[in-house]
Amino acid sequence: MPWDRKLGDKLSDAIVLKDVKKIYRMGQEKIAAVGGISITFEEGKIYCLLGASGSGKSTLLNLLAGLEKPTKGEIIFKGMHLEKMSESDLAIFRRRYIGFVFQSYNLLPTLTALENVSLPLAFRRVNGKERKIRAREMLKAVGLANRANHKPSEMSGGQQQRVSIARAFINNPKVVFADEPTGNLDTKTSEEMMNLVTGIARERNQTLIIVTHDLEMSHYADTVIHIKDGIIESIDEKPELKAGFIESIDEKPELEAESSAFERED
Ligand code: ADP
Ligand code: MG
Repeated sequence: MPWDRKLGDKLSDAIVLKDVKKIYRMGQEKIAAVGGISITFEEGKIYCLLGASGSGKSTLLNLLAGLEKPTKGEIIFKGMHLEKMSESDLAIFRRRYIGFVFQSYNLLPTLTALENVSLPLAFRRVNGKERKIRAREMLKAVGLANRANHKPSEMSGGQQQRVSIARAFINNPKVVFADEPTGNLDTKTSEEMMNLVTGIARERNQTLIIVTHDLEMSHYADTVIHIKDGIIESIDEKPELKAGFIESIDEKPELEAESSAFERED
């Protein structure tokens, strides 16, 4: 694989895009699904790509995840140039470095929840016993320990999406991508799902990039990237989220002292 870390690339950079374009040809017409995007995604942060239907969000996500190749530009994922990789290199790259959550779950219908979750480990030749242990742990983490032997058709949409979240994280991927992960779910289940997926990402300090057209879903991200007509319209950083997090760590001993004082009063 073309490892090509340049001087100046930071270790904290997960993915760097340099003037990335994806042009589709439809007969005589050219559609710039992604029309020239340059941005750096940092490690351990949660991003939301927000935009209307047809704005180019899925195309951008597929480029970032090595599912599609750009027409122009550079996509540098932890020092690896995705635009230079062959299809077979990209397949290996995806197995090793990324997790994916789809709107339609994309579980294999004939496999149980446990088997679906452990599939990425099978591709990486982890032995059967360890696969089961790790898949069980992951199912427990998403609240589905008691559904391990259920097939997708025997689970609700929300449960199926939990299985697919467990599958996305099981390999400890560098980056987890989610394309409209709540698109098929009701409001309450959507909130549960966003809390779950962002909770796991924060706990593991993992980079998470979520595509959505739903403004409500963007509140879970550290950085919201507004996409319009294939380009970045604006970027909202939420420093208060990070600041609040650091503050709460600093204050933890005090908080604990306070809460035990309350307990004594009770
Ligand atoms: P979004 O995910 O924001 O709804 P997409 O990335 O799916 O948007 O699509 C962006 C634009 O690119 C749309 O105009 C769409 O019609 C077009 N497009 C997407 N995929 C293809 C394709 N394979 N061939 C031709 N046009 C495409
Ligand atoms: Mg889409």
